[in-house]
Amino acid sequence: MYLLKHTPNFALMVKTCLICLYLLITCKVMAFQTLPIPFEQIIMSVETAKNKNPSAALNLLNSYQLNLNHLKVVQRIQYYKILAEIYSEQDLFYKSKIISDKGLALAKELTSPSIVIAELLYLKGFSLESLGDIEAAELNYENGLELAKSLDKPIHITEGLINLGAIYYQSERWENSIRVLNQAYNLASQTDDENLKGMINSELGILYTYLGQGKKSRVYYRQGYQHYLNAGKIFYAYYTLNNLALSLSRKEQYEDAISLFKEVIDGASEINSQSLMYSVYSGLSWALLKQNESDPEGAYQYILLAGQYVEGTEHHNAMLYFLFEKTEVLKELKRYEESLDVFYLADLLFVRPIQPQDRWFYINTLYLKAEIFNFLGRYQEAYQLMSEVIEQVKAVRQKENLLAVDDLRLQYESKQADLQKELLVKNKALQNLELAEVDRASVKQRQYLIISALFALIFAWLVLKLIYGQKSLLKASRTDSLTGMLNRRHILQLAQELFKGAQLNKTPLCVLMIDVDHFKTINDSFGHSLGDKVLKEISEVSNKTMRKADVFGRFGGEEFVAILPFTPLKQGREVAERLRLAIYHHKWPFEVIDTVSVSIGVSIFDESSGLSLITSIEVLLKEADIMLYQAKNLGRNKVCS
Ligand code: GH3
Ligand code: MG
Ligand code: MG
Repeated sequence: MYLLKHTPNFALMVKTCLICLYLLITCKVMAFQTLPIPFEQIIMSVETAKNKNPSAALNLLNSYQLNLNHLKVVQRIQYYKILAEIYSEQDLFYKSKIISDKGLALAKELTSPSIVIAELLYLKGFSLESLGDIEAAELNYENGLELAKSLDKPIHITEGLINLGAIYYQSERWENSIRVLNQAYNLASQTDDENLKGMINSELGILYTYLGQGKKSRVYYRQGYQHYLNAGKIFYAYYTLNNLALSLSRKEQYEDAISLFKEVIDGASEINSQSLMYSVYSGLSWALLKQNESDPEGAYQYILLAGQYVEGTEHHNAMLYFLFEKTEVLKELKRYEESLDVFYLADLLFVRPIQPQDRWFYINTLYLKAEIFNFLGRYQEAYQLMSEVIEQVKAVRQKENLLAVDDLRLQYESKQADLQKELLVKNKALQNLELAEVDRASVKQRQYLIISALFALIFAWLVLKLIYGQKSLLKASRTDSLTGMLNRRHILQLAQELFKGAQLNKTPLCVLMIDVDHFKTINDSFGHSLGDKVLKEISEVSNKTMRKADVFGRFGGEEFVAILPFTPLKQGREVAERLRLAIYHHKWPFEVIDTVSVSIGVSIFDESSGLSLITSIEVLLKEADIMLYQAKNLGRNKVCS
């Protein structure tokens, strides 16, 4: 009833049905037409878009996701590989890792091993590395490299070596890093793959930066930049240029660095990479801050810009580095209260164990914190932190034997030169061989982590210069280079202070002048260098017999001095006698020497025993010298007072 009432006539019903049918068919045809854009075509478009506009490439791939089920397993794996690669280039490392895992899971369905698996392993490794899990990254790189070797793919083998080389320098295994990166360099030079050459040159640039070989590293960066340009990899070309600018900045060539940073900014704004933008702005900020005519206001503007990009990168240390730099800029602006960011930063840093690659950064954080405490007048806290910094620097220094590293470098470089010759010969034979088998599919890149690592290095060097430089300068001006004891100048300074104290407080002060007997004979009979060793032994034996408050050092030649505060003559004589016997009975570690003796002159300043004729430290020292002369005249190996 209802239907009849509302249905005007049958003809209209038929007409409506026909229209519906038509629409249904057309829709189906349209749907049929949009579905099968060939996979290869999509991949090609993505590959083209990727180098210039990664986010457009990402959109293209994501919109294709619905069609995945229609693809073959190999194609699906390739899809995941490219997707993981783009995520990685966008600093989305968690996503990149998840996607490469998906690809690797699918790869189990393959009947024979494919090189794509190695690519996925490298991608996964890179994500892990960027997220701070160096160990897991290494494992993935190793597996990928093994597969590449078994499939005999030179480009992938080279890439695997490059990845491992980077892991090695981050974990300070310098020898391994130099070895595998040189190997990779040789392999890359056998190919005409500009991209691969770009990669290895940039890596060597970074390695040599780590090793403190600034000039060399800059040559590699420039070569890397050129190779990347040749390969059309604009994105990586700018990364390398940015690294070059950072390296210049580290060498305090701020003007050159600043103009390069600006060049990167001009070029990179099209690329739209969060981590590159962050890195270049913070690099520029740092250079502006540290250049001759520091521009903290300008530095502040750029660090704020860097801040807009830091959120977008998932790199495990980016936020920490950013906060550090911002704090540093605020400190320069004397905005100390605001610069308390560093505390937040320290909290972030301290919740996890400090990785070896973060050690310098950790020290720098402590140092900065100490500085700010100092400016805020919280001296006690500043002092405590500073002591910790010095301890940490000492500990790290002990581990880093930079000289040993230098030797290694030379050793491997000469090896590399030999290899290079061999390669030239081999290359001729290879000339006609096709490299067609080589899979030229994109080789994933890795620069992100390194940029941050470089920041850590810049900071580390600044601190080192500040603390270590000052410390060693101070030390050098105070100690005798042969024995490591106090030198004459410093002894005189301290003696002066002790003398004033003794005068003021009316306390006794005793001086011992010690001279080695017949030392010339030792030199003449057994050589000057053995003489030196004897002097060192004597100073160590003597130093051990002293109390903490005593001042002991080398006065010159084979003469030593001890200043004993709060010590009356009787006690001073006892000390001198003990010292004489200790040296006389010392067991010498040199076969040719049985015994060595010393003569000691003792003088005293003691106002309690009546009016002293001694009016200055110089007179007191002279007196001890006269007593020493007496001891010599009495036949040596004696104490006179
Ligand atoms: P005496 O018992 O009278 O002190 O005789 P001596 O041979 O010790 O005294 P003399 O002053 O004749 O010789 C001191 C020698 O010490 C001469 C000098 O070459 C040597 N001498 C000075 N400084 C050093 C040094 O740093 N290393 C070495 N190996 N010898 C030194
Ligand atoms: Mg002498
Ligand atoms: Mg002598």
